[in-house]
Order: sequence, then C-alpha cells, then structure tokens
Amino acid sequence: MKDTTPYRACPTCGDDAASALDAYSPDPWVVAQCGSCALVYLRNPPAYEALEEDFAWEKTYVEKKAKSKGSTPLSPYIRKLRNSLGIRRDKTAQWRRWFNDGHVLDIGCGWGDLIKPPMTPYGIELSSGLHEKADALMRARGGYCVKGAGAEAIWDFDEGQFDGILMNSYLEHEVDAMRVLKGAHRAVKSTGGVFIRVPNFASLNRRVVGPKWCGFRYPDHVNYFTLATLTDMAARAGFTTELVNKVTLHMDDNVSVLLRKSATS
Ligand SMILES: [Zn+2]
Repeated sequence: MKDTTPYRACPTCGDDAASALDAYSPDPWVVAQCGSCALVYLRNPPAYEALEEDFAWEKTYVEKKAKSKGSTPLSPYIRKLRNSLGIRRDKTAQWRRWFNDGHVLDIGCGWGDLIKPPMTPYGIELSSGLHEKADALMRARGGYCVKGAGAEAIWDFDEGQFDGILMNSYLEHEVDAMRVLKGAHRAVKSTGGVFIRVPNFASLNRRVVGPKWCGFRYPDHVNYFTLATLTDMAARAGFTTELVNKVTLHMDDNVSVLLRKSATS
C-alpha cells in the first residue's frame, strides 16, 4: 500500500532522501525526516481537491477531538502552567503592535474573525463554506477574502500590500510551504512582519505520548516543524525568525514565531 503512492521531496530543501518514522506513519500515510535539513513531513499528502471537500479541517477537527479525548495526559498541566504564567492566547495586542494597526492578511483564515479593528482584515481560505462567511465579514471591515490555496492565492496580492501576515495553525497544512513563504516575503512591507503558529514537533508532550500526540492529524498536517526547521525554511525564503513563546517552548504543543524580512533579502 505505502509504496504505490508517489512521494514528494522535502518542502524546505528539495532533497528526495528521507527516513520514514514508522511509529508516526499509520497506513497509508508516511511521515519521514529529511536526510539533509531534518524537516519532518508527510511524504504522500492528498491533492488539494481532496482537502477541499473530503478532508476539510472542520470535519477532521471534530473527529480528532473526539478520538484524542484523554489521550494527552500532560496537556492539563501545561495549560495550568501557561495560565499561571499569564500567557494569554489572544494575540491581538501583539499583532496591532507588530503590524502597525495596518492591513493584515490571514492565510487559512477560517471564519475570518481573527483580525480585529482597527486593523483591516484580508484572508485566503480554501474551504468553500468558510470562505463565504469570511469574505462577508472582511468586506464589512474594509478588506476581503480570496478563495484558494495559500501558495497560489498569495501571489494575487500586490507587492508590499500588507503590514502583517498571519499563518495561525496554517503552515502545517500547506504542501508547498516554501512557495507561500516566498509569496509572503513579496506581499509584506519591509516594516511589516509575519506571525506563524504551528504544532511543535519538539514538544515534551510529543516525546512522552508519541503517536497519540495532539499535533498528529492525518492527512491534514503535512509538515511537522520544530523551531529549528521552521527557522531554516524561513531563512531560505528571506526572513529572520524571532521566537515568541520563549518561556514555554519545550512544554508547548505549539511554536510561535515572528518573521521579519532579512536586511540582505
Ligand atoms: Zn530537507
């Protein structure tokens, strides 16, 4: 079964050689680590058309939630620690500061309600049902939402159109992650930034609970980043990376970073 599907090359460095991580590869899916740059990624993701209809995240999110109930014993403790450290999930204040209250693009925007006024919201959304809702909401606030895949649609915007770009729980789904980062580099102003939040493959929780880690979602998640592999991919697209969740990184199921355009790019 596994060897009949064509495998993709590493989305960061293009190398074809990768070692399968059998414990994280439930049939027919193959999760592997690149031999050159160490990125962990799904080698045989389904085509976009399938993602749009059969694997739309609203459905798999509900399924995964039901399945993983109680299977991640560390999570409640991490949540408690995060709360006691006063780390809030709402990033609006930081985004307003980083993005100068300007025009902000949310890639994979879902319902489209993440970018609050006075920022002007723009979005890209692949799922038909979600795109319609997001576009209506964003137009009421001065922006709009494009329907499509991030790696393609981001090239439809003007060069330097945005003060900020959000990839909040998005880049782990994007088969052509390098192309979307290069598109973001073109679409963001030199004074702007790109916020990325993805599951943290290097988290303590993943190492403890293994295959039952909440970050595994087949086949929706096609890239499994660590801070190092995310920084590497961003650098190849012309960005410098600043870690946002510095205190909790090793225990956090997610890694959050702010990218700025490199001075040389
Ligand atoms: Zn690689």
